[in-house]
Amino acid sequence: MEFSSKLLEKAVNEMAQLPGIGKRTALRLVLHLLKQPAEHTHFLAGALTQMRDEIKFCQSCHNIADVAVCEICSNPARNHQIICVVEDVRDVMAIENTNQFKGIYHVLGGKISPIDGVGPSQLNITSLVQKVQAGAVEELIFALSSTMEGDTTNFYIYKQIKDFSVKTSTIARGIAVGDELEYADEVTLGRSILHRIPFENSLKNN
Ligand SMILES: [Zn+2]
Repeated sequence: MEFSSKLLEKAVNEMAQLPGIGKRTALRLVLHLLKQPAEHTHFLAGALTQMRDEIKFCQSCHNIADVAVCEICSNPARNHQIICVVEDVRDVMAIENTNQFKGIYHVLGGKISPIDGVGPSQLNITSLVQKVQAGAVEELIFALSSTMEGDTTNFYIYKQIKDFSVKTSTIARGIAVGDELEYADEVTLGRSILHRIPFENSLKNN
């Protein structure tokens, strides 16, 4: 792609670093910004910079938050003994949208994936195991997507906590294998949480 301007080229190249954005789309977006008043671009750049610099991860559940402890963890009306284990903030948002879950979350920050170079130590697993060891957890609900990486991660955690007195369950697999949680419709996802099954049963099926 030949550019008439180095500035334009730089902006397009930066935009094209984003997932799912090819150079053509990046060029379209940049040209769109150029047609808008300059403030639009300033607001966009400002929002991104502020988000990146000021965002926090909840000290307790590792969810993205604006404060040290997120709204869910600091809510006394939530059941702090039931912890739903999810991959990232999108899953928290999807499950919250169902209005069916009144426990709290633990955000792993990814799934174990040797191919992508993601090992257990890069995920928020130790802090979860510590919560269970401290005896503060009645039930862990595994709500990772049912991909091979999700299953591997569930099983890795399960092995570490199975000797402690904690109930483990997994969301019912009404959700097709390989689907990401965030794409499940709210009714299906809500039902999956309500009709969760003991984790051991999910192992026998595999
Ligand atoms: Zn939290």
